[in-house]
Amino acid sequence: MTMPFANLPPILGQALAARGYAEPTPVQAAVLEPGAVGRDLVVSAQTGSGKTVAFGMAMATELLRADGTAEASAGPLALVIAPTRELALQVSRELVWLYGQAGVRVATCVGGMDPSKERRALRELPQIVVGTPGRLRDHLERGALDLAALRTIVLDEADEMLDMGFREDLEQILDATPDGRRTLLFSATMPAAITRLAQRYQRDALRISTVGDDRGHGDITYQAVTVSPAEIEHAVVNLLRFHEAETAMLFCATRENVRHLHATLRERGFAVVALSGEHSQSERNQALQALRDRRARVCVATDVAARGIDLPTLSLVIHVEIPRDAEVLQHRSGRTGRAGKKGTAVLIVPYPRRKRVESMLRGARIQAEWIDPPTLEAIRHNDRQRLLAALLEPAEFDDEDRALAARLMAERSAEDIAAALVRAHRAMMPQAEEITENTPAAQQADRQERHRAGFEDVVWFRLDIGRRQNADPRWILPLLCRRGHITRNEIGAIRISANETHFQIPRASADKFAAALSRTAGAEDGGDVTIERAPDTPREAARENRKAAGPARVHSAGPRGAGAGAGPRGPDSRPRPAGPGGPPRKAWPKKPHRKGPKGDRPA
Ligand code: AMP
Repeated sequence: MTMPFANLPPILGQALAARGYAEPTPVQAAVLEPGAVGRDLVVSAQTGSGKTVAFGMAMATELLRADGTAEASAGPLALVIAPTRELALQVSRELVWLYGQAGVRVATCVGGMDPSKERRALRELPQIVVGTPGRLRDHLERGALDLAALRTIVLDEADEMLDMGFREDLEQILDATPDGRRTLLFSATMPAAITRLAQRYQRDALRISTVGDDRGHGDITYQAVTVSPAEIEHAVVNLLRFHEAETAMLFCATRENVRHLHATLRERGFAVVALSGEHSQSERNQALQALRDRRARVCVATDVAARGIDLPTLSLVIHVEIPRDAEVLQHRSGRTGRAGKKGTAVLIVPYPRRKRVESMLRGARIQAEWIDPPTLEAIRHNDRQRLLAALLEPAEFDDEDRALAARLMAERSAEDIAAALVRAHRAMMPQAEEITENTPAAQQADRQERHRAGFEDVVWFRLDIGRRQNADPRWILPLLCRRGHITRNEIGAIRISANETHFQIPRASADKFAAALSRTAGAEDGGDVTIERAPDTPREAARENRKAAGPARVHSAGPRGAGAGAGPRGPDSRPRPAGPGGPPRKAWPKKPHRKGPKGDRPA
């Protein structure tokens, strides 16, 4: 018989066996190789590869005596730093079961928790401390964390931590550790900044890469579902109903969209929670707990809020809004298909975005199956199979159940009772949606719909703000409504070039619009922006300014909520510029800002 976990103290082998883990994952096998023992390591491994247990195993030589019991400590022997609270708590949970039997104590120090409780836990001299960079640095500066006895430091998801602006905190912590310590660097990607960190803080590090082995292509099936932009939410509902995954994670691009989709799904009867930067730590903990104990089965999240989350029952990821790039696509999808389990990642692709998604998938070398959203009939078929399986499952009934069954049998036929049972089960399932068939004709109709009625005869107006001044339809639209006393529905195409923006107003409303503009010029609320009838069409203007302007970006202003890739956004949820009347030039930075180093708080 082969040793399932060679080179591992038996007490840890027992903990793994008790969890039902029969053999090491590739990254675990790599850190257990005799050549890796005691050395500094740079490991590229994705979440889901079993990397937490891998660094847990790697630290064993520094934490356990020969007889498998815990080394006594005058201060932490091992420190693990992770980018977010969730990840740190998750790491801590894994190390607790791995080292519990051996008597190793674990303390967790994360932003958003009570620091005085953490200080008490640190005074009890745990052998392992797990935390987020900002909070660990705070404890260090206040003298609550003494790293003089440290033997191993682990930087988990090091690339994320650098990305999130934690470099200084990490360096301060690393500088406070003894020279002879081991440094284990775990990172999904290896950008230059990671290499620099490794050069500065590691000695003769062994590089381990299992990314090719566990990237998840084998475990995650990718599907791309093309839909009309107006039917994104219906597609989400049907995908959830078709798969009926034990746990599903849905990704949106912004917190507004998370909020909206969460409300929509709850209204339809899904057991759903939301995770985004607008939730407090205790709300986030409650949401995750509800998913773990199965009170909730669907989680709607932003990319950052869901980073690193490990839910073993998660078998379906839906990219409700297209990820920003291939890396985000893989991070999101990697919430499923973990540790050898199978998962499905579905991209919802509005027709006009198909080319972009195809090229993103090609770039990431992901083969996706292009399909239509599940139909009502397909969902009904699956429901029937699931109902039969659930109702025919062997069951034990107690006397009370049997007595009630006898009374029912006296009143009704067995067939009626069975039908009532089926109906009761069905009533608990949220309704699926009718979705327009995905034919070329439907796509054409959709394109026509986007060339909206009422905009056949238009007048072009212009604004003296363009791409260089951060022009964005999200604040331009409310500004035009305020200044021109019109509704969003009366604004047609918007074309943003380098230094100006053109937009269409139906000829019938143009005079009324121009009159309101002159009355509101100079008003406090955006009155400093020049808006006027354009002397030329955007194309003519571009020709004039070819050198200055660069290529124009085209935005379709409507129909509302149905813009390409707009995602599940209601008609009134279009974001506004910060603060009433705030200068629009500053209102919409192109990229959302990352939280500063002290925050420890995902957006
Ligand atoms: P991670 O990559 O650390 O996020 O781990 C992903 C999941 O894999 C966690 O739920 C681990 O408990 C689980 N896991 C770790 N090691 C093994 C193993 N050898 N066999 C099966 N599952 C494992």
